[in-house]
Amino acid sequence: MKVVKFGGSSVASAEQILKMIDIVASDADRRIVVVSAPGKRHSDDTKVTDLLIALANTVLEGGDYETDLQQVVSRYAEIQQDLELSESVVATIEADLRGRIENRTTNALQFMDAMKASGEDNNAKVIAAAFNKKGCPAKYVNPGEVGMLLSDEFGNAEVLPESFDQLAELKASSEIIIFPGFFGSTKTGEVATFPRGGSDITGAILAAAVKADVYENFTDVDSVYAMDPRLVPTAPAIERMTYREMRELSYAGFGVFHEEAIIPAVHAHIPICIKNTNRPQAPGTLVTLTREVGDQVVVGIASSDGFCSISIDKYMMNREIGFGRRLLQILEEEGISYEHTPSGIDSISVILKSSELCTQKESVILERIKAELTPDSVEVEYGLALLMLVGEGMHFALGNAAQATRALGDAGVNIEMINMGASETSIMFAVKETDRKKAIHALGESYFG
Ligand code: ASP
Repeated sequence: MKVVKFGGSSVASAEQILKMIDIVASDADRRIVVVSAPGKRHSDDTKVTDLLIALANTVLEGGDYETDLQQVVSRYAEIQQDLELSESVVATIEADLRGRIENRTTNALQFMDAMKASGEDNNAKVIAAAFNKKGCPAKYVNPGEVGMLLSDEFGNAEVLPESFDQLAELKASSEIIIFPGFFGSTKTGEVATFPRGGSDITGAILAAAVKADVYENFTDVDSVYAMDPRLVPTAPAIERMTYREMRELSYAGFGVFHEEAIIPAVHAHIPICIKNTNRPQAPGTLVTLTREVGDQVVVGIASSDGFCSISIDKYMMNREIGFGRRLLQILEEEGISYEHTPSGIDSISVILKSSELCTQKESVILERIKAELTPDSVEVEYGLALLMLVGEGMHFALGNAAQATRALGDAGVNIEMINMGASETSIMFAVKETDRKKAIHALGESYFG
């Protein structure tokens, strides 16, 4: 049995939906189909999820939301017309949206989730109708009703463990199941969504619950590439990688697969195959627990902007028991999540996503560090990018850090920080955001020619 997920661009138009139906119909093992909301039809287009967020914001601000609402409805109307489905489909979607707005709760986050979730929910209903029209018996299921239970962290929910047993029952369905991605229900019945891009997570949960033989994730590229092909067009395709490599690369900027979607698949040992809706015959990228390293020491290099560091100096820091714990405790108490902590004998830096620090939070944290840790100096630096060199082979092969630092040095890129964990699956370099592209080209040239 295969669980298949189709991302936003694979369900953005009637043409794409028809390709998807052909893909599912061509393999009798494809029994559970997870769908996103309609995504971009071309590079300047807007995803339905973004249209829904704009609509929800207009409602929350008390504005006239009619134009925003019609923009969403017209995306579905186009699909309905091109698929020659009944006009009542669009009327039902419009009524659904108006219902969500009229019956909204006072909790803005909860309302936002109900609106965002409608993107996948309504698309799944349209897609189920399209399957049936094509003679492929399929049924829409509502995630909350079949046991996709999530925590009540609206916009950032996590699956609750009891979901898996209930969702396992989907295996028994004689019809193909069309399952909307991205959302589920809290224990008290409210709609809650995963983080953005979370339909990948839905697919992984279902694959783990039904113990699928493979989780196929259809997107709009032939495979995962060793580097962002928009920045490095010569980057090779990755045929095989491990869960750990995929997680590291997704975390550090690869947009093809959501970093949190790896976890359910890892726990149940479900292979993940990333494939292209527009070229389903291409083999794609297979992600499994282990791989033959061969000469593919470094599998990929990811990068992303938007980081900052808090750097602290204190003479004899290495002798001060509990310094690191007290520093991290300040962050914990202020509700800040950190990414890395490179350190020296008298210095420690904490790397954070810049979005975690607003001006007010920054001054509270700096004041507390000064008062509670009495450092010699403390500084915040914004505008950092992280580069992540990833490959299980680095555990065995010599000279990877040397090769990377030489490439960066030759390109005139100043390395602000380096971090390598004990697993030796990745090496992280922090550089200035303004140097990121130069650094990526230098590493691309050095590792992939
Ligand atoms: N539609 C949602 C988003 O754009 C979830 C997804 O497509 O995975 O984030």
